[in-house]
Amino acid sequence: MQFMNQSFSDIASNLFRVKRSIAEAARVAKRNPDEIRLIAVSKTHSHEAVAAAIEAGHQDFGESTTQEALAKISRLANPSITWHFIGHLQTNKAKFIPGNFSWLHSLDSLDLARKLSRRAQELSANLNILIEVNVMRDPKKHGIAPEALLDFIEKFSKENLHGLSLRGLMTIGPHEAPEKELRACFARLRELRDSYREHFALPGFTELSMGMSGDYLEAIKEGATMVRVGTAIFGARDYSKN
Ligand SMILES: *Cc1c(COP(=O)(O)O)cnc(C)c1O
Repeated sequence: MQFMNQSFSDIASNLFRVKRSIAEAARVAKRNPDEIRLIAVSKTHSHEAVAAAIEAGHQDFGESTTQEALAKISRLANPSITWHFIGHLQTNKAKFIPGNFSWLHSLDSLDLARKLSRRAQELSANLNILIEVNVMRDPKKHGIAPEALLDFIEKFSKENLHGLSLRGLMTIGPHEAPEKELRACFARLRELRDSYREHFALPGFTELSMGMSGDYLEAIKEGATMVRVGTAIFGARDYSKN
């Protein structure tokens, strides 16, 4: 890019640094770093910022509102990008997800699942689904409470929702909590995945989307297979520009 400014050129070195620290955390945890997918969370950042990350070799991007994401997806029109929808999704926006995104990290209702399935079938598309779990039962957060998860997966499975592949669980860790508390939250999500993968005999139920800029190293120690990192790659978000 010819007119890449200072902040766009930082993106490549930030990505390199985050990838190196993921690999180091994996090594310490005796895990294979290739099992951990870095999702660069580009919400509020421009399509030029995403283009800079693509130029640096990155392919997985996360967005959390449909309007902003669809503008970037059509602007970049790059079939090698894998888009992840990571924010809370209202059921009336479900129709925008299949076909545009490969992954939804935030399933939290059966009604939403039915609408996603209907749209995926219309498009003959497949959508990978993660259920958002509110591990700490934080009233300010979305997601299924841990004690309601068994029943939720049971109902989801009985509905035979074509076009959706149930792939795992997602959570948002407690904000600026001490390491012990963060790790307890992430460990709980791992235990839930392990027990329901076995209980429901779901071989593809392998993913744990957990860890953000402030806590992805703790999440990797507890088994994260996807980390969602925004600020550490793209810099601080300026909501006043939107
Ligand atoms: C914004 C966001 C992130 C990225 O947060 P950073 O702290 O900037 O890394 C991750 N996950 C979700 C669900 C988000 O909304």
